[in-house]
Amino acid sequence: MNRSVSFKVVLLGEGSVGKTSIVLRYTDNLFNDKHLETQQASFKTKKLNLDGRRVELAIWDTAGQERFRALGPLYYREANGAILVFDITDEDSFNQVKSWIKELKRMLGDDVVLCIVENKVDLEKDRRVSRQTAEEYAKLVNAKLYPTSAKFNKGIEELFSDLAHRMLEKV
Ligand code: GDP
Ligand code: MG
Repeated sequence: MNRSVSFKVVLLGEGSVGKTSIVLRYTDNLFNDKHLETQQASFKTKKLNLDGRRVELAIWDTAGQERFRALGPLYYREANGAILVFDITDEDSFNQVKSWIKELKRMLGDDVVLCIVENKVDLEKDRRVSRQTAEEYAKLVNAKLYPTSAKFNKGIEELFSDLAHRMLEKV
């Protein structure tokens, strides 16, 4: 039987980089110009069909705890995939990604599939972190880099489907 396989995916990154926007664009094809308020559920689910294989993603977004550095290990425990988001116009948010990756590797080892997302590529003219810097870092930590714009729906579908493929390869 072709049973469905479930994966836990967590979003991590500084406040305002676009985590909630990425999730809502993917699950509901919505975008809001305002900062999105705390959502009710702790995760959203999305069902995919990958080469005949049924996959269900449980996509965990923060409720804003990252703003108070209060996101504990319960959040990313047993995650199969992690999406680490930075905003290309904010260098600090890239440094935050680096510290999250250290934490994830320390807590989860190499089992977790890592995606580094450079979001807001529609603001390319204000870019502060070069593509090359991001690529080199991603390679170094065995992650993959995905450019996205939640605003213009660029790269979002590709991000989740590639992540799902990579997680499937691990089972
Ligand atoms: P979070 O705190 O990481 O969940 O970030 P939000 O999803 O709440 O987004 C923070 C702000 O960035 C909001 O004003 C969004 O409208 C905006 N935003 C999110 N994604 C994009 C994007 O791809 N491009 C642009 N220009 N703005 C974005
Ligand atoms: Mg959010």
